[in-house]
Amino acid sequence: MATLNDKKLVFLIRFAPSMIVALFATLTTIAVITDSREKARLSSEALYSNISDHQKQVIAARVEQIFTQANIQQSKSEDNLKQQASERVAEAHRIATNIYANNQSKSEREITKMISDALRPIRFFNGRGYFFIYEFDGMNVMHPLKPHIEGTSAWEVVDKHGTLILQEHIKRIEQQGGEAFYSWWYQKPGYPLEQEFEKVGYGKKFEPYNWLIGTGEYTSNVEEDVKATVLEWVTNTQAGKRDNVFILDESGTFLYHDQPELIGMRVGQITPMLADDEVKYDNISAQGNFVTFDLPKSSLLIPNYQGVAYMRAFDSWKWVIGSTFSVDEINSYIHDQKQELDLQNRQHLSYLILLSILSIMVMTGLSYLASQFIVKRFDKFQQKIARDFTRLEQRKNQMQHMALHDPLTGLSNRTRLSDSITEGIEQSKNNGKSLAVAFLDLDDFKKVNDLYGHATGDELLKSLSRRFEAILGKHDSVARFGGDEFVFCLPLLSNLHEATQKINDIKAALDAPFLIEGRPMTLGSSLGVSLYPKDSCDPEILITNADIMLYRAKQQDKGSALFFNQEINHQIKNEYRIDQLLRGALQREEMSVVYQPQISAQSQQIEGVEALVRWSNEELGFVGPDVFIPLAEENGLIGNIGRFVLKKACKDVYQISPNGPNALKLSVNVSPKELLADDVVDTILETVMDVGIDAKRITLEVTESIFVDDMQRVIPILERLQALGFCISLDDFGTGYSSLSHLNNLTINELKIDRSFITNMVNNAQSNALVKAILAISQSYQLQVVAEGVETKEQYLTLKSYGCQSIQGYYFAKPMTPKALSEWMKRSEPVEA
Ligand code: C2E
Ligand code: CA
Ligand code: CA
Repeated sequence: MATLNDKKLVFLIRFAPSMIVALFATLTTIAVITDSREKARLSSEALYSNISDHQKQVIAARVEQIFTQANIQQSKSEDNLKQQASERVAEAHRIATNIYANNQSKSEREITKMISDALRPIRFFNGRGYFFIYEFDGMNVMHPLKPHIEGTSAWEVVDKHGTLILQEHIKRIEQQGGEAFYSWWYQKPGYPLEQEFEKVGYGKKFEPYNWLIGTGEYTSNVEEDVKATVLEWVTNTQAGKRDNVFILDESGTFLYHDQPELIGMRVGQITPMLADDEVKYDNISAQGNFVTFDLPKSSLLIPNYQGVAYMRAFDSWKWVIGSTFSVDEINSYIHDQKQELDLQNRQHLSYLILLSILSIMVMTGLSYLASQFIVKRFDKFQQKIARDFTRLEQRKNQMQHMALHDPLTGLSNRTRLSDSITEGIEQSKNNGKSLAVAFLDLDDFKKVNDLYGHATGDELLKSLSRRFEAILGKHDSVARFGGDEFVFCLPLLSNLHEATQKINDIKAALDAPFLIEGRPMTLGSSLGVSLYPKDSCDPEILITNADIMLYRAKQQDKGSALFFNQEINHQIKNEYRIDQLLRGALQREEMSVVYQPQISAQSQQIEGVEALVRWSNEELGFVGPDVFIPLAEENGLIGNIGRFVLKKACKDVYQISPNGPNALKLSVNVSPKELLADDVVDTILETVMDVGIDAKRITLEVTESIFVDDMQRVIPILERLQALGFCISLDDFGTGYSSLSHLNNLTINELKIDRSFITNMVNNAQSNALVKAILAISQSYQLQVVAEGVETKEQYLTLKSYGCQSIQGYYFAKPMTPKALSEWMKRSEPVEA
């Protein structure tokens, strides 16, 4: 069932998802790998700049640290100096004060000597410091380094800036309340006299003798100490490190270098390429700056060195503090780092690729499995659909079969019959042959159902169908048309004889009894046959014609087969037309009632009348009751017609002759169908009472047939009517089945000898004998007898001689309108016998 498209779809479902998944996963993986490569590249670039930035920060920080340390030490030295100087002077002052206080008894000279001797040997500031004493007028009292100036005035001594050293100092002490700092310039031992150095000093007034006790120290001396301390600190902190820290003095000489052998050497001595001025103090910013340099290998001391230096000028001492790092080192570090990074990246990448391959495989596998599952489901559904289709097809075929076949017998139904006939006609036409449509109806099949039940009836129909099928010719077919009706289609007939032969075969199929539930059963059938092309070329008309013939066959000769005949067809059609028009006849007031007198045979006086219905239609003209009454009985109109006649007759007769001892009697025909209606007694009674006519005047004429079919039901009805005063007359007596011997059982008041006996009576001895016998028996049962259809005087006289009481017939009068009847009665009053 699977189409090419389905197969393609299945293929697509099976492989497309896994392929798509694999493709996407691969693409994603490639993207991730590319991305991670790019990241690795960027990270190694970043690494370089990071490290180089970091390294710059590191060397700058080193320089800053030393710079800060130098700063601290430097500022510390001046303060120290001042502090120590003031403390020292305070100490000397205390010593002098003590000596002065403890030797009050001694002379000023003695005390001066004692104080001078006490202070003279005191040394401090690494042995460089000493005290001196001056009088406020400039006279030197004590000077340990220059004892020869003791007793001389230094009032006029000036330094190289032309300042009066002592005067200025004393002025400050006076101004600042007895003690003050002072700075001046002075020769230094070991240096030429003309070279003076800055000195910082402190002086305090010794009140008792108006002295100045003071001390001083060369700033440069302190500075050298501090520088040495800083260099020592640097040496200590840098010990064991290779931080490439260096300190240069103003002249470009290394004060410190990581390589101690370089200390004391000038930059230019080591690397002539490095222009002196590049690292010269004057060219270095006090804020610090970076310098990139590239030193080719120039000496054993300095290897090939490409690097970055950070240098900062320390203005106070005109130092250059610097640190360097080697680009090569960084590069090699980065190289190592990069290699490590690359290794890591490669590892990551291989993990990634492994993971990707794994996940691709897993995803592809999973989606392949899912696809497989879907495909399986798809297959299942397809199979299910295929099964459903087959079932649907079967169901459709069944339905088609059902639509064209009778479910009980399996024979064709009406629909298929039409098709068969159409086809048969076509076939027969092409071969120049005829076709017969035979309509078969089982006789009294209803009785089978009533007696044995419908299941048995069904079985019978099925066996019958099998028999029909067995006798069918190659091209023949049979259909079940309805309950017990079958229609045969017999095409390709050469002549009428062949058709008759086939019809006989069909009838013969029913000859042998059927064995149903162990019970033998016989069936009879009637057939109507129509022929193509003689009777019609239309399948439906052929069926209708055959049906019409069947109807007539049943009506006239049960068990026969009747071939279509145009005359019968017309008759039946006419009957049909009459039937149609009859339905509206009462409404259109086409019905009337005429009255035929019944004459007393003895007196020849009118005793009563028989009401006879008349129908005159515009299209059909006059239609006799013999024709339309049986139709009305069949189509159910008889009830209405009967009521109309009874009412009209009662009215007319009551008008002509009121109730009374000699009132005119009225005979009304009542059909068996009317008599068996539920409310017949009430209806009749009501009508009579409505008009007011005496029930005793009325005779109801019934036919013998009612006693044959429904004796048990009819007798109580008749008895009730008799009890109400009505007379019952048995019409057409002698034509039916009732035997004379039954008369005593019947609730009858009157007999009407049928016209056929009266007609034949004179010529036919048998009829004559019968009339005689009827009249004799009637007398013994005390029944009234009316002879109808008396047309001749001879008949009248014979009947009279036999003792017949009443005569009805053309001899005396034909049926008449009420008006004619009244006139007739007036005229015939004086009639003599
Ligand atoms: P029926 O009851 O036997 O009526 C007598 C028939 O014989 C009437 O025919 C009447 O016209 C006819 N007839 C009377 N005297 C003579 C005669 O001397 N010679 C000949 N040849 N005929 C004679 P009609 O009126 O055609 O009625 C025919 C039948 O129709 C009636 O036969 C009756 O069976 C039925 N019929 C008529 N009127 C009614 C009716 O009102 N109700 C019912 N249920 N049946 C009716
Ligand atoms: Ca009658
Ligand atoms: Ca009659």
